[in-house]
Amino acid sequence: MLRLPVFDVAAPDKLTDALRSLADSQAGARPLGGGTDLLPNVKLGQTRMAMALLLRGVGELRGIERRGDNLWLGAGNTLAQVAQDEQVRDALPALAHAASRVASPQIRNMATLGGNLCLDTRCRYINQSEFWRQALGGCLKSHGSECHVVPGGQGCVAALSSDTAPALIAYDATVEIASWRDEGVQTREVPLAELYDSDGTRHVRLESTELLVGVRAPVPGLNVRVGHRKWAVRKSIDFPLISVALRLELDGALAAGGKLVVGVLGPRPRVLDLKAFAGRALAPDFARDLGQLAFDRCRPLPNVPYDAEYRRERLPVEVRRLALSLFGDQAAQS
Ligand SMILES: Cc1cc2nc3c(=O)[nH]c(=O)nc-3n(C[C@H](O)[C@H](O)[C@H](O)COP(=O)(O)OP(=O)(O)OC[C@H]3O[C@@H](n4cnc5c(N)ncnc54)[C@H](O)[C@@H]3O)c2cc1C
Ligand code: SF4
Repeated sequence: MLRLPVFDVAAPDKLTDALRSLADSQAGARPLGGGTDLLPNVKLGQTRMAMALLLRGVGELRGIERRGDNLWLGAGNTLAQVAQDEQVRDALPALAHAASRVASPQIRNMATLGGNLCLDTRCRYINQSEFWRQALGGCLKSHGSECHVVPGGQGCVAALSSDTAPALIAYDATVEIASWRDEGVQTREVPLAELYDSDGTRHVRLESTELLVGVRAPVPGLNVRVGHRKWAVRKSIDFPLISVALRLELDGALAAGGKLVVGVLGPRPRVLDLKAFAGRALAPDFARDLGQLAFDRCRPLPNVPYDAEYRRERLPVEVRRLALSLFGDQAAQS
């Protein structure tokens, strides 16, 4: 049985106290939302932690509210709250769908939105015991010098398996980040897509003193449709093998642009622009061409379990089905 090592615990109830603790800990503290990703990784020796900074009691990280043309969601909301909230279901249904498809009800009751967005990258060679990894000589992410997914590769290509990240990127969401500096709270806001780096060993662009406070997503108008689709082997609990979100911007009955966001490829979601499809009718051939775009531009790697070639063949099917679900009756009539 894998045991947790000994570490300190801090449980602040104010954002300023949480940020101060992070600043004081000199990179030894780790924010802990629900712990459903962090604690297994600490058990596996994949992540070191001198202190767990429990965020559950921090009131400023909770709540979902309309702020002008945006919906604001605190990073400390559980995924169950995000999935069930009426405002989210009305304004950002693809996010509600993505949150509702993460893991199992028990995990969604613990897991937070912030933790889902800051999820560590996953790889079949790293999500193993320390003993197992050492037998292989480690890898770029674990005390080694070689990548086993891309032999000879210079960077870690472990996959971000977050289901909410593709959906929120499709909604053009931004994230609010805070830290304690010069005896005060400093904040910055960045587009969610820019939070991620292509290096799987350090794919979340946050300093060790920074916390993700919340997410701001512009509520789409009537001319925008956004959807999310996930494929996993077992529907009820598994990590995604494909997680895609599609944003369609319309001009009347025709496409005007949008984006396709493909997750679980590497350390950050791939964003494909759909300007070239402007003027297309919402018909089955358009859905097929979106699938072909994903097939041509995205190449799943053997980083997560399951056959990479099958994932590649499956991706255009999932994209086509997602597009058809957004076209609705228009595709049936064309
Ligand atoms: C069996 C199983 C199945 C799973 N299936 C899925 C799945 O289908 N889809 C999916 O997306 N995930 C899945 N997960 C992974 C995980 O449960 C979820 O992603 C969950 O949302 C993580 O949230 P958390 O609050 O528990 O994160 P934590 O474990 O608390 O934290 C994760 C990371 O985020 C950091 N962090 C947390 N909050 C903040 C913050 N506010 N600011 C800065 N950093 C922060 C932590 O330091 C840590 O590095 C699964 C996990 C298990 C065990
Ligand atoms: S992608 Fe390569 S370097 Fe990264 S965890 Fe997997 S084997 Fe290690």
